[in-house]
Amino acid sequence: MICNFWWGSTTDQRKMHWLKWSKVCTQKRNGRLGFRDLRAFNEALLAKQGWRLITKPTSLVAQVLKAKYFPNESFLNAKHKQVMSYTWRSIMQASWVIKRGSYWSIGDGDDINIWEDNWMQQKGATYKGRPKPNNLNLTKVKELMDSNYNEWNIDIINQVFLPYEAQMILNIHIIDKTQPDMLTRDCTQDGQYSVKSGYHAIMEWGNLPNASPSNNSQHIWNVLWKLQVPPKHSHLLWRVLHNALPVKNNLFKRGVRCDPLCPRCSNSMETIHHVFLDCEWAKQTWFASALTLNLGQNQLTDFYDWINYMINNTNKECIEKITAIIYGIWYARNVLVFQGKNLPPQEISSTALNQLQEYQTHGREQHIQDPQVRRNGCSNDISWSPPPRGTLKVNVDAHLSSDGHWSTGLVLRRSDGSTVGVATRTHNGSADVVTGEAMGLMDAI
Ligand SMILES: [Zn+2]
Repeated sequence: MICNFWWGSTTDQRKMHWLKWSKVCTQKRNGRLGFRDLRAFNEALLAKQGWRLITKPTSLVAQVLKAKYFPNESFLNAKHKQVMSYTWRSIMQASWVIKRGSYWSIGDGDDINIWEDNWMQQKGATYKGRPKPNNLNLTKVKELMDSNYNEWNIDIINQVFLPYEAQMILNIHIIDKTQPDMLTRDCTQDGQYSVKSGYHAIMEWGNLPNASPSNNSQHIWNVLWKLQVPPKHSHLLWRVLHNALPVKNNLFKRGVRCDPLCPRCSNSMETIHHVFLDCEWAKQTWFASALTLNLGQNQLTDFYDWINYMINNTNKECIEKITAIIYGIWYARNVLVFQGKNLPPQEISSTALNQLQEYQTHGREQHIQDPQVRRNGCSNDISWSPPPRGTLKVNVDAHLSSDGHWSTGLVLRRSDGSTVGVATRTHNGSADVVTGEAMGLMDAI
């Protein structure tokens, strides 16, 4: 339904869909439109239910489902059963979203299966589990810990694991052996699963088999979506760059009976490149514009390459004007094809640039009237502020040194800014920034 709306279909008339739905749904920074894929969104919602079963095991629904479907294992390791309710089947099928993007933070180690759960690799959770060696009885992570202290049992770990794995484990910080383990989401600030993070991850993983967009093309989209231009201008440019525009040659290739030649000069096929850059009329439009672009010597034979070149060699204001003129050229082409009117090139570029200026002036006025925007604009201006009189303030920071250790530093100051004392400490580290900062805070306390 969304797709029909976007491409202009109605109940009476079906319009051409110029790009696959999956491409339209990919995120904007990868050059698509960022429409919501409802199947993926539904899966992200179901994964949220799964996350609740893990993080709120005492809730009634978690207890009922556990008793019925996974009495002896964890939700993430639950096995398929012959008879399953529709709800449970759906939640279980979405559990891969949690498995793939989460890892266990170590508490008492009682909830974590050494061989099946993702715990060894704390960040960038891609661990897929490994077969349990036949001659070993170890199952839970808790069995790898020292029975008395908040530490790993180095002897067991060195016996069981390969040296690099043992090193990975010894680098993991055991948070508190008296607390339960905690499942942590890899890509969110607070480590909790959110539907938004799940949805973006599904879309990203779903697109992995396709060639991932190069940094270069990502750069184009980053520039395009940040332009201060009317949305109809940027969306037209988006369609042009995806060759998703009904120029005659595209229609002809899709089996529409029509003359594929340029309706203006009839000298060449009407392709995207011809309409916007190569047609004599287009060249006159660019030259007559405020940019005075002379495309007579243009060596680039592809529109995409040309835009890429312009983005890399001009500034944002110039690209905004180019976007407006592209819109003007397409508008004039449609006036010619559908109304038989031939608009003069100089009129096209001046109308397009006026539209752009109007849009930008209006946007700027709104910006000035909105004090919130101005305040947010200054939010980076953070400086030290003194504590109330008679109290002390401690500031803490942690830094990961090149040898893999965390160094924490703290400074204690009075309300007049004078220093009471400073201290630094070194910790055996994990690569986790949050843990490093937390150790700094612990030192300070
Ligand atoms: Zn032409």
